[in-house]
Amino acid sequence: MERLQKVIAQAGVASRRKAEELIKQGRVKVNGVVCDTLGTKVDGSDTIMVDGKLVNKEEKQYYLFYKPKGVVTTMHDEKGRVCVADFFKDVDARVYPVGRLDYDTTGALFMTNDGNFANLMMHPSSHVSKIYEVVVAGNFTDQERKTMEKGIYLEGTKTLPCRIKINGYNNGVTMLMIRLQEGKNRQVKKMFESMGHEVKRLHRMMIGDIDLKGMEPGMYRRLTVHEVRVLT
Ligand code: URA
Repeated sequence: MERLQKVIAQAGVASRRKAEELIKQGRVKVNGVVCDTLGTKVDGSDTIMVDGKLVNKEEKQYYLFYKPKGVVTTMHDEKGRVCVADFFKDVDARVYPVGRLDYDTTGALFMTNDGNFANLMMHPSSHVSKIYEVVVAGNFTDQERKTMEKGIYLEGTKTLPCRIKINGYNNGVTMLMIRLQEGKNRQVKKMFESMGHEVKRLHRMMIGDIDLKGMEPGMYRRLTVHEVRVLT
């Protein structure tokens, strides 16, 4: 027997603390009955639902989502803004985002209900690369490119080497592509801002070998078994 909040957290639905909140808010049902008592013991034979969705016993699901601009990478938003979960209402599993893209950033985002997959993807030692298309203010020079590629200091820590391709200059902005091996919070924006270039547009084109070919903003598709295997 395990404590209910632990089972919910292990299913990857929420952190332990958040799971406690979900229970207290009456959003959790055990065997069809609302259970708002922290510490209730459950086992594998119990059916646990959060907001009407099965959390244990459910099949692991993996999605590639094309996040549009103006969407928060959360399951719900207190300010009522559109969040990624709104696009997954028809999916029967409680999938949640793997990492985050900023409100104004577009592009590839994984969604899953597999906590192990999510942790693996987000772990600093995960070497899954991410390619971003970036538009920055000003002329980003070839010298700056070389400096950034070698690694620069952000909040006292050196960034890992990365690759940058300058695609062109137009009306006071530079269009480029950057491939990163790491994904700290707001890393791309911080890197360019630290060199005096405000990021005007940011789009994640690829995660590992997976791109958004054939997809439009707001669309999602299942990752294939092969794609998941290559990533992990
Ligand atoms: N880096 C950022 O700065 N923002 C994102 O949304 C993704 C990567």
